[in-house]
Amino acid sequence: MQQKTALVCGAGGFIGSHLVKRLKREGFWVRGVDLKFPRYAATHADDFVVGDLRDAGFCRSIIDRSFDEIYQLAADMGGAGFVFTGENDADIMHNSASINLNVLDAAHRRNCRRIFYSSSACMYPEYNQMDPGNPKTAEDSAYPADPDSEYGWEKLFSERLFLAYQRNHGMEVRIGRYHNIFGPEGSWNDGREKAPAALCRKVAEAPEGGDVEIWGDGKQTRSFLYVDECLEGTLRLMRSDWSGPVNIGSEEMVSIDELVHMIMSISGKQLELRHVPGPEGVRGRNSDNRLIREKLDWAPSRPLKEGLQVTYEWIRDQVEAARGKA
Ligand code: NAD
Repeated sequence: MQQKTALVCGAGGFIGSHLVKRLKREGFWVRGVDLKFPRYAATHADDFVVGDLRDAGFCRSIIDRSFDEIYQLAADMGGAGFVFTGENDADIMHNSASINLNVLDAAHRRNCRRIFYSSSACMYPEYNQMDPGNPKTAEDSAYPADPDSEYGWEKLFSERLFLAYQRNHGMEVRIGRYHNIFGPEGSWNDGREKAPAALCRKVAEAPEGGDVEIWGDGKQTRSFLYVDECLEGTLRLMRSDWSGPVNIGSEEMVSIDELVHMIMSISGKQLELRHVPGPEGVRGRNSDNRLIREKLDWAPSRPLKEGLQVTYEWIRDQVEAARGKA
C-alpha cells in the first residue's frame, strides 16, 4: 500500500509540532512548514521547509503534490497578552488571513481536497460570554457575530473562506474550533504564552511563601484541553465525513483562581494570589460538546489536573534550566 502523505502548516508551533509526531506514529510521510523550526524539540517531519506562508508563490512551491491530508494551523497568534492588548491587531488580521487565502488556494490548484482548518472559540460572540457561570458556545450560536478580538474576527472570516472553497470548488473542508489548548513544548515565556503556561511559570518561579500575579479578579472562567486530546479530536474530525465547524475543547470549566490552586497543589507550594489589572478576554467560556458527541461519537474526557501535572513539570524544568544558565 502506498504511504499516505500529510502537510502540516504551522509545524514549528505548539500544536503543529505535536501533530507531526502523531502523524509520524501513524505511518504518514509528513512535510512540515513554518517560519521557524520547533523551539523546544527536533521536528519529526520527513521534510521541513522554513518559509513564509503569506507568500503565494511559496505556498504553491510546498504544495507540490496531492497530499492526502493538509492541516492548516499556521497563524499569527498568542495568549491574552498578545491578542487582547490591541497592539498586534493589524498583524494578526493581515498575516493570518494572507496565510489562509494562500494555503487554501494552492491546495485547491493542486487538487488536494481534504484540508483541516484550526479555528478558535474566540470567534464566538462576546454577548454570550458575559456570565462566568453560564457561557454559551453552541456551534450555532456564532451569529449574529460579535467576537471580542480581531483574532476572533479573522477566524470567522477564514471559516467562511474555507466553507466557500468547499461549496464552489469541491474541497473537503474540516473545521475545528479549538478551546484553550495546553501542554508541554508550547510558548511559556516569550509574550505569546497562554494562561496555563503563564501561570505554571509564575508558580514555578515563585519562592515558597511568595505570590502569583493574576490578570483580573480571577473569577473569569475557562476550560483547557490537553494537546493529546486536541489531536485526537482533530484526526477524528479530519477522517469523518462531516465538515463541522465543531468545538474541540474540554467541558471542565474552572475559574482562573481555581486553575492557580490546582497548579499550586501540583507544585506543593503555598502562594498568595495577587490580582492586578490586565488583558482578560471574555468573562466566561466553556466548550459545549453536544455536537461533537452527536457527530463523532466522541468527546474529550481527560481531567484537567492530569494534563496540568505533565505541563507543570515541563515548565518547571524549563525555569530551572534557564536559572542554571543565568
Ligand atoms: P503557535 O503560535 O505555536 O503555532 C502557529 C505557528 O504558525 C507558529 O509556529 C508560527 O511561526 C507559524 N506561522 C505564523 N506565521 C507564519 C507564516 N507567515 N508562515 C509560516 N508559518 C507561520 O500556535 P498553536 O497554539 O500551535 O496554534 C495552532 C493553531 O490553532 C493556530 O491557528 C491557532 O490560532 C489555533 N488555536 C490555538 C489555540 C490554543 O489554545 N493553542 C486555541 C484556539 C485556536
